[in-house]
Amino acid sequence: MAVEVTDDGGNPYESTQGSKAEPSQQYRRGKIRSRPPLPMRTWLVVLVVLISGAGLVGSSLAVNVILREVLYQKVDDDLTAGIDSWARGNQLQRASSITGLPSDYSQITLSPYGSIRIVNDQGSPPDYTEITEYGVPLTIDSMEHSLEEREWRAIAAQGPDGTVTIVAKSLDQEKNLLRSLLAIQTIIAIIVLVFIGLAAHYFVRRALRPLREVEVTALAIAGGDLERRVPEWPRETEVGELSYALNKMLGRLTDSVEESRRKEQQMRRFVGDASHELRTPLTSLRGFTELYRQGATDDVDFVLGKIDDESKRMKFLVEDLLALTRAEGSRLNLKGVDMLELTLAVASSARAAFPERSISVENTTASIPLIQGDPDRMHQILLNLVVNGLRHGGQDAEVKLRLRQDEDNVFVDVADNGIGMDEQVTQHIFERFYRADTSRSRGNGGGSGLGLAITKSLVDQHNGTVTVTSKEGEGSTFTVTIPRLRDSLATESSSDAEADS
Ligand code: ADP
Repeated sequence: MAVEVTDDGGNPYESTQGSKAEPSQQYRRGKIRSRPPLPMRTWLVVLVVLISGAGLVGSSLAVNVILREVLYQKVDDDLTAGIDSWARGNQLQRASSITGLPSDYSQITLSPYGSIRIVNDQGSPPDYTEITEYGVPLTIDSMEHSLEEREWRAIAAQGPDGTVTIVAKSLDQEKNLLRSLLAIQTIIAIIVLVFIGLAAHYFVRRALRPLREVEVTALAIAGGDLERRVPEWPRETEVGELSYALNKMLGRLTDSVEESRRKEQQMRRFVGDASHELRTPLTSLRGFTELYRQGATDDVDFVLGKIDDESKRMKFLVEDLLALTRAEGSRLNLKGVDMLELTLAVASSARAAFPERSISVENTTASIPLIQGDPDRMHQILLNLVVNGLRHGGQDAEVKLRLRQDEDNVFVDVADNGIGMDEQVTQHIFERFYRADTSRSRGNGGGSGLGLAITKSLVDQHNGTVTVTSKEGEGSTFTVTIPRLRDSLATESSSDAEADS
């Protein structure tokens, strides 16, 4: 069945009619319309200019309104005085006819009989019909069809005979004065605002310079320059506090980057060493098989014996590698451990493996030497050291486990009277794959060089330390130090120990 896609249903963007604009284009257009945000310094300058501008406009308006009031009051006073004095005797008409001088004043007399006399209308007489009250000054326009539009201030009074006298003064002068004042104020405001704008720009830039420097440094750091630091400013300032916090954070970051680099390097070295160690027996294996294949020897037992030796070495190495990985990543099964009990157990394990050798235990502790640890791991630590003494100390070496304790720690010395080591060897002995005498170690089918690295890792996990003192020809003493346990567990375990004995 064919399916028809109609224009009015389904996806509107697939419509073949109407607008051809792609939705993404519409979105882009929308994006173009939104202006990029202004930087903070521009905003601050604009804000300062706007606030100053508002202040200037406000003060100019206030000055204008007050001046206007003062001027109009003066006009009103003159008009009130005039209507009571010179307007009565038509002095204005006389004065103007005598001197011929133009005057701002105009006088209108309305007689009760209907006649109107206007003196000095200045081409646009005041529209006296707007006046509704006697004795109150009022602003009125000029009459319709006047030569020019003019505003008048006028006051009217009625005489005892019914004659109405209106005295008006043209407001041209006052208005011109106010207009000029406004123009001057505007020019001054513009000049002041330009200066304020420039000053604000300068001071804002100056004030934000530290932030700019922080920004530049942050960008440099983001670009990979991890050693860069934000310039320090006094901590009392906001920027100072920010720089301090940033520098602290950067310090931490750099440390953790260094730490992970170091760990990665260690891991690489470890993988390299492990591969190298595995390659040696593998090469021997291949060598013996090649030898046999090429017919260089037909002693099958010899070849198989060598292959067996090498594969055993590989097996031990792989087992040690696994033990080391487990030791480094393992979780301890922590509990109160009586170290005397544990040391005795280690000694009997070693005696079982080396029945013809001398392994003794000496206890110098007055109370139970208790630690918090994983008993299996602690057993592994001490047994490693004892077996090392027996293996590397020489055929006749005797091993003694000595138990001591002080206020804070329990110490186990694993001492042998074997061949000992020189100082150079003791410095590297806890490193992975380190062997003092490779030919001897390999020759007797022993050590991968990982035993002491595993031991150290396990001791570290117990918050303890392992150290060595040794003298060539006299023997070596390894000392394991573990923090003592002195809490409720102590009493619990001691009662257990008593019960056992
Ligand atoms: P491994 O025993 O697997 O070779 P270890 O890390 O246990 O590796 O020991 C590293 C090296 O330290 C040994 O190869 C050996 O040369 C030396 N060593 C360790 N313990 C003793 C000891 N008690 N006396 C003399 N040499 C020792």
